[in-house]
Amino acid sequence: MTGRREEPPAAGEARFSDAETPLAALASELRAFNRARDWEQFHTPKDLAMALAVEASELLELFLWKRDGDLPPVARVREELGDVLITLTNLASRLGVDLMAAAEDKIALNARRYPVERARGSAEKYDALVPTDEEEESR
Ligand SMILES: [Mg+2]
Repeated sequence: MTGRREEPPAAGEARFSDAETPLAALASELRAFNRARDWEQFHTPKDLAMALAVEASELLELFLWKRDGDLPPVARVREELGDVLITLTNLASRLGVDLMAAAEDKIALNARRYPVERARGSAEKYDALVPTDEEEESR
């Protein structure tokens, strides 16, 4: 660990955008859904972030106390995954975040943090990965 903070990719480097995916249509539909019910007043970033954690917890609850290999009904998992996506989309929409670009940027950052030669087959966090001999020699 060098202590240096890795910089995220510069804005505008992303190849993908929500506008080119069904996410834009989903966000638009959700804005209309929320507007019709006058729910936008409740959708602060704080409450949407909390709601996202709650929906993720509802997904986790389906797996709670299951034995290895025992799965909850896929229909219930599907419902909670839908809730997670809806809440995530509402939060991103509220903050003006392009989810596809954000995910692509994060993949690029993770690719730098977890180079294949160091990370392959390892569950270590990036700051605990051991440099290869070649990396050590080039220092
Ligand atoms: Mg739910």
